[in-house]
Amino acid sequence: MMNYPLTLAQMLEHAHRIHGDKRVQTVLPNGKMHDYTYAVLYERVKRLANVITELGVQRGDRVATYAANTYQHLELYYAIPCIGAVLHPLNIRLSAVQLAQIVHEAEDKLIFVDGMFTEQFEELRHKIGCKQIVRFNLNPADTDTFYEQLLGEVEPAYTWDIQDENWAMGLCYTSGTQGEPRGVLYTHRSMFLHTLAVNQADVFGLTEADVVLPLVPMFHAMAWGLPYACMFAGADMVLPGPKPTCIANLIAENGITVAAGVPTVWANAYPELLRRRKDISSLRRVIVGGEAASPTLIEAYEKELGVEVCHAWGMTEMSPTGTFSKLRGTHQNLSDAKKWRIKAKQGRPVPGVELRLAPEASTNFTELPWDGETVGEVQVRSPWTANRYYKSEPTTEHFTDDGWLRTGDLATIDAEGYMQIVDRAKALIRSGGESISSVALETALLKHPRVLEAAVIGIPDEKWGERPLAVVVLDEQARKKILDDLKQRLAVEFPKFWIPDRFVFVDEIPKTSVGKSDKRAIFAMFASNGKQVAGGSGTSHPKGEIS
Ligand code: AMP
Repeated sequence: MMNYPLTLAQMLEHAHRIHGDKRVQTVLPNGKMHDYTYAVLYERVKRLANVITELGVQRGDRVATYAANTYQHLELYYAIPCIGAVLHPLNIRLSAVQLAQIVHEAEDKLIFVDGMFTEQFEELRHKIGCKQIVRFNLNPADTDTFYEQLLGEVEPAYTWDIQDENWAMGLCYTSGTQGEPRGVLYTHRSMFLHTLAVNQADVFGLTEADVVLPLVPMFHAMAWGLPYACMFAGADMVLPGPKPTCIANLIAENGITVAAGVPTVWANAYPELLRRRKDISSLRRVIVGGEAASPTLIEAYEKELGVEVCHAWGMTEMSPTGTFSKLRGTHQNLSDAKKWRIKAKQGRPVPGVELRLAPEASTNFTELPWDGETVGEVQVRSPWTANRYYKSEPTTEHFTDDGWLRTGDLATIDAEGYMQIVDRAKALIRSGGESISSVALETALLKHPRVLEAAVIGIPDEKWGERPLAVVVLDEQARKKILDDLKQRLAVEFPKFWIPDRFVFVDEIPKTSVGKSDKRAIFAMFASNGKQVAGGSGTSHPKGEIS
């Protein structure tokens, strides 16, 4: 057989030749729609390839983006990897301190910034010193170059030259459980195979006839691979742009058939979608992931809106798709309640992904049974799963000796292969689909001279899924005075949505037998809406709560 290279350049060429008339639409900052074909996008990607090369970017260099879901970002998703450089989308929700650390480690050579984010980018710019900046959309600052102008100055011809499918094509950072963000480097081959995998009928199942609305940000886990999956399938795309827009309008006005986003997005959109049920009849499927979607949400969409909801699970480390939840043929005659219970599980492994369950925190691997009851840590391997973090050697904390990724998710797997996440071994809180590292917050809190002990847990929240709750042991007198101080201190290092809503002061933090904070015991104390549920004596119940 031919040794045919699996590269994004091949994917782009296919999209252009076979689907050149398909459309990409973007909601512009002024609310109007930008609309062009794949053919126009293709020519602009080639011009952009020349621009990036002329700006001095060479093979393997990292090029960052600071942008929302727009056509320019989509062009960058192709142009950067197709010249052999590495696309590095920056998560604009992170604080300037976190991003500066990330940009520093990635050694980004050039940053493309959406002019709509000029103000929030300024703080980061200040911290990262002089980097080359190219702006698009509004407000090009005097000192920077402007995207459209650069595209106009170069030739539309460019010959792709990816010599090895194992060249890096993208870099995404996760929120490290220990606080330090960790980079995951994807290759052309891994992204090509991920694209083929998610486009299978039993996974995203996109076709040329679809109109896809990716609400998952392009700065988060490669937008679940949708920028590549859509164009390889030839589906039209509608990109929501940098300003929040009414999802019901987007669906109704553009005939959206498939949309993807985190549960928070779907929970918030539901009342409006219900009100406009008739206008959104084009919508056939919602892909929901990033955190657990509740059975109630799934039921509401399926029963009241007639939209199929498919639950997906994955990680930045997995490009990111690992499992997908669709009913099997044998489930069709089950009662609705049973169907929704199955759909609320995180699903079966995408073909190409291997899963196994291992005893939690055990160094000796014994595979646990797939009986739907036994809980273990999910371990994964696949052609699109990382085998190390960027610029670091694999450690046993994250990878097993026999080469599997330890996901840090605790789950059951049933006899049919449906995985259900029941908990997280890693100390991450999921808020609106984004990770918040409880360890990073704890470390920052402990730096305060008045804090003796600190533990941060995620408590259920109707709107965001989970929100952090900080439990701290304080010097008695300073308790009230210190609250503002703590919040201010966290606000310097972390984005607003990471700041715990409530701080609880305790005499002592419950410990496990080996003296570590016992997060499960703490959770049991505060799980009821952030208030202590277990009363009684002892020293570890809260002294008080201040919000
Ligand atoms: P990230 O790398 O930021 O996408 O975070 C990956 C983590 O998000 C996983 O390890 C899970 O803990 C969580 N996650 C992703 N998808 C789901 C899902 N469908 N249900 C529950 N948790 C999820």
